[in-house]
Amino acid sequence: MQEILKGLLDLLFPPRCRICNKACSEAICPECIDSFPRVNGSICTKCGKPCHREVNTCRECAGKNIYFLLARSAGDYSGNLKEAIHQLKFRNGKKLAPYLARFAAPHIVDFIDGIDCITFVPLTKYKEAKRGYNQSKLIAEEISKIFNKPICDSLIKIKNIPEQNKLGLAERPKNVKGAFGIKSPITGNMLLIDDVFTTGSTVNECARILKKNGAQNVFVLTIARTVPTGR
Ligand SMILES: [Zn+2]
Ligand SMILES: [Zn+2]
Repeated sequence: MQEILKGLLDLLFPPRCRICNKACSEAICPECIDSFPRVNGSICTKCGKPCHREVNTCRECAGKNIYFLLARSAGDYSGNLKEAIHQLKFRNGKKLAPYLARFAAPHIVDFIDGIDCITFVPLTKYKEAKRGYNQSKLIAEEISKIFNKPICDSLIKIKNIPEQNKLGLAERPKNVKGAFGIKSPITGNMLLIDDVFTTGSTVNECARILKKNGAQNVFVLTIARTVPTGR
């Protein structure tokens, strides 16, 4: 009965790509996924920033205390990728998480074998309840399935802080300081997942907490990377 009902609903309201609205049985059509602006070519091997030539420390990394071993981003936060992440976060786009995880997966194949556990940037309890889910956790769960690595729900957001993107660049590291704590014991090499890398202050603070509490190394994966704007 349920299948007949589903068939009827599909006939009346054919499933569509959530990005281009074309009739498609997938939540995002293959053409839209192909159009995601992927990070290709030379990067800063530390933070993953696209650079004209490969460097070990870019201008953004220089002089900073960086607690993660390396960070990688799969795409540029623009075009259809930006739209997909926006839907995932703000328009109940939970179904998009597996597509974004598959898009990002090639960027961690070089080091995933050495990872013991996958974790994610937490939201405050209030925010997670309001949204109904944590988008970074959804992506982490998909990455965990792809590579058959366990998930560790290690971090907790203990302080409600102003949104990072509402602040000037200089204020961001200070703003996240003390915002995160530890939920469960940690050992080994961890992969930390977040949706967007801007200044890296959030993942860096999470990496600091993870390392302080027993993580050997912290690797970071974000779906997209954006150039910070503001002061
Ligand atoms: Zn599409
Ligand atoms: Zn860098």
